[in-house]
Amino acid sequence: MKLYEQYPVSITNSLSGKKEVFKSLVPGYVGMYVCGPTVYNNAHLGNARTFLTFDIVSRYFRFLGYKVRYVRNITDVGHLVGDGDEGEDKIAKKARLEQLEPMEVVKHYTEDFHQVMRQMNILPPSIEPSATAHIIEQIDITKKLIEKGLAYEVNGSVYFNVKKYNQQHHYGILSGRNIEELMESGRDLDSQDEKKEKIDFALWKNASPEHIMRWPSPWGSGFPGWHIECTVMSTKYLGETFDIHGGGMDLKFPHHECEIAQATGANGKSPVNYWMHSNMLTVNGQKMSKSLGNSFLPAELFSGNHPLLERAYSPMTTRFFMLQSHYSSTLDFSNEALQAAEKGFKKLNAALLLAKQLVRNIETSATAQQEIPEWNNLVDACFKNMSDDFNTAKTLAVLFEMASRINDIKAGVVDVKKVKKESLQHFLNHYIGFMEDVLGLQEESQGNTDALAGAMQVLIELRKKARADRNYALSDKIRDDLKANGIQLKDGKDGEMTYELD
Ligand SMILES: [Zn+2]
Repeated sequence: MKLYEQYPVSITNSLSGKKEVFKSLVPGYVGMYVCGPTVYNNAHLGNARTFLTFDIVSRYFRFLGYKVRYVRNITDVGHLVGDGDEGEDKIAKKARLEQLEPMEVVKHYTEDFHQVMRQMNILPPSIEPSATAHIIEQIDITKKLIEKGLAYEVNGSVYFNVKKYNQQHHYGILSGRNIEELMESGRDLDSQDEKKEKIDFALWKNASPEHIMRWPSPWGSGFPGWHIECTVMSTKYLGETFDIHGGGMDLKFPHHECEIAQATGANGKSPVNYWMHSNMLTVNGQKMSKSLGNSFLPAELFSGNHPLLERAYSPMTTRFFMLQSHYSSTLDFSNEALQAAEKGFKKLNAALLLAKQLVRNIETSATAQQEIPEWNNLVDACFKNMSDDFNTAKTLAVLFEMASRINDIKAGVVDVKKVKKESLQHFLNHYIGFMEDVLGLQEESQGNTDALAGAMQVLIELRKKARADRNYALSDKIRDDLKANGIQLKDGKDGEMTYELD
């Protein structure tokens, strides 16, 4: 029996609002699409939480034995300022402000995004397509929607006809928005607006003469709308219907609602079986936003360089902190919560190092037959919690239990000579597996700072003693050897010594 049959996954499907047992379209395979970043700015912490959520989803599916194709795009054109169909393209605007080529902006912020992903141990997707590399496909689907009578052209721009679509299908199926209400609130159509109804959205936009990002199309020179890129890239790599589509809660409407309408309109079938949305980050109980001055970047968190932060927090502390709450709940950032997370992660990290040592070195007896049911129950609980809508918070609680049992082994509370070798290995290897492979919590070198500080204190005392004994040869040797190892000793006025890492 495969692990994924033994521990079937259930997912809260935003489409039904219910927790449903996950059944993949092709047994043993999972296709997942997640809306990636718009690369006109540094990735912020809220983005990091979304991508962490789906990193966990893909990691756990793989751990269960599924083959996963995970597609996460790069939005490098088409995302307009204000998220409507008006205004400038975010990337073109940034390029103009900074006097750069648009692709320079894209490259710079894509690299920044990738660096944050690496620091937080968020694995790269299987495919990372970009919108500008799929202009032809976006033009093709726009033509198809016009042919089907679901889109219309005005002055070189093409808009999706929501009202027409809603006569055959259901616009609002995901967000629960009511189309009559939406149309009513959009009655104040201003005179410049080319759209038939305010809820119609752009598939293609005519480029004004000063617009720098443009491509030829049957409707003249222009650029694609934002929603259409995700429809094109998801169905191109995963099929007209695929398993999972994810993104941040803020994308549910209008972005994801529009994706459903475009794909259903073009292909005559619903594109996604399970929609998943991760919730927002708050700071000290307030929504994180630039205008409130309480938003910070991952780099600021890792360096502690922000007025709201008392000090730096490591990427793994941040990761652990985010995993302490379920992806569907809001998560509040505060210094206290981060400091508590740091302590928690240290405990699990210490048990991880210990578990690895034990796996390598522990001596067991070949004839020992004892099984420890509690160990098996704890491993079983990890699987059940993760299979229950990826509940990382509950899984971490079980890992703390396991960490205590690992410390018991070290302390000799359990006589491992009597325990069956396979049983011990099963327990330790699953602790390591859930920490590293499923939750992506790596050993952190800074985790050893306490030990380093302790060892340095011993060497400083020895050097003081050598000096008091006028053994300058030894005193210098300690200083020089440390220097060769990247540690600089500094002599203070009153004979005190401090050290710095190079
Ligand atoms: Zn998208």
